Amino acid sequence: MSAPGHRPTLRGFVRIAALASLALPVACQAPVAVPGAGAPAPARAAILQERREWAFAGASPAVTIDNRFPGARVNRCEEVGPHDYRITITPENEPINPSPWYAFRIRADAPTDVTVRIVIATATTRPHPWTSADGRGWTRVPDADWTGRSGARECTLRLNVGPSAKWVASNRMVGNDAIGAWADATAARMGAVVRTIGTSRGGRPIRLFEFAAPGAPEDWVVVIGRQHPPEVSGSVGLMAFMDEATGASERARAFRAAFRVALVPVVNPDGVDEGQWRSTLGAVDANRDWGPFTQPEVRAVRDAILALRARPGARVWLALDFHATNKDILYLPREDERTFPPRFASQWAAAIQARFPDYVVESTGSHNVNEWTFKRWAFEELGVPGITYELGSATPDARIRRIVSGASDEAMRLLLQAKATAAPTR
Ligand SMILES: [Zn+2]
Repeated sequence: MSAPGHRPTLRGFVRIAALASLALPVACQAPVAVPGAGAPAPARAAILQERREWAFAGASPAVTIDNRFPGARVNRCEEVGPHDYRITITPENEPINPSPWYAFRIRADAPTDVTVRIVIATATTRPHPWTSADGRGWTRVPDADWTGRSGARECTLRLNVGPSAKWVASNRMVGNDAIGAWADATAARMGAVVRTIGTSRGGRPIRLFEFAAPGAPEDWVVVIGRQHPPEVSGSVGLMAFMDEATGASERARAFRAAFRVALVPVVNPDGVDEGQWRSTLGAVDANRDWGPFTQPEVRAVRDAILALRARPGARVWLALDFHATNKDILYLPREDERTFPPRFASQWAAAIQARFPDYVVESTGSHNVNEWTFKRWAFEELGVPGITYELGSATPDARIRRIVSGASDEAMRLLLQAKATAAPTR
């Protein structure tokens, strides 16, 4: 096994990790029962919503609202007038990142117009709703039917509903089922090895997909996603990146002859299914746990990556983590961090910019440098470029796919180039 080109000192790591875990906020409610949990309940637990249906017959036709589907989130629902309902959304723990998520289903005995007032606790962000007739195809609600503005106590949504259920959510939904189906189909097409590397606190499998062509050396690119439940655009980006890397282009074929990819498409499946804003079921932000390692999901991914690196002749070259925020932006290693391969991150950002001159590639090396992110762990533990690839929550899927497919091609080009020039160390 060869060591990475640069291995920073980890002196003081354990002490700092202990302090960081002490400083974590404490959940303000009693732990909830978690299916499959045999051990005594830990001190921290996400506050789960009650899964139920609310039936309202105060006006004719009767209307029902429910949260009985994966990814739903409704904490309270009440009738405030004829065909006028208030939905309250609260986070799974506090304090929390202000990235609210809501999702519910609504139907009426006969076609009718309704008003739904959405009240979001804690955060000032008021995500613009989307609707769907089947939970798969989504349309953004027209501006005229939504009064949401930042910080408003109540935002109102006007909808026409009928006997067929209508899904309403704070973004288009791409959940565990959709991502799992895509990953399984991609794995089947490529002959990838699928392994369950651990189990979430809620009992859901954490799956790792090994894309390794016969005879490919143990040179690994690690790709992970969905540490943060609401970040749908990140999953769209992750799928586009992998679709290009597993595609038919000459570059992708050359890449697959030279590199393997370890993919964990969903690090936090509990958070996705429970419609959480940010955390695991342990009420911890997974992307602030790559140091304390308090969460089973994060430990499972860490251990799987370290096991890959421990294979004879193995080397990790790049670690990518897909997210979503209010715009497309790359969080790169700091300028002074000496990675292997050297300067990959800045070269990649420049290459994406050169490829898409009409698109502004934003990047920074100074984001969250003191937080226990995956990106930081990838650098400190593996010595490789750890990159957080953020896609805008409102960036259209077609644009995400176009840009990230190009970015994937550029990453493969640079990795092949780095390999051609790297010193043979093993
Ligand atoms: Zn995120």
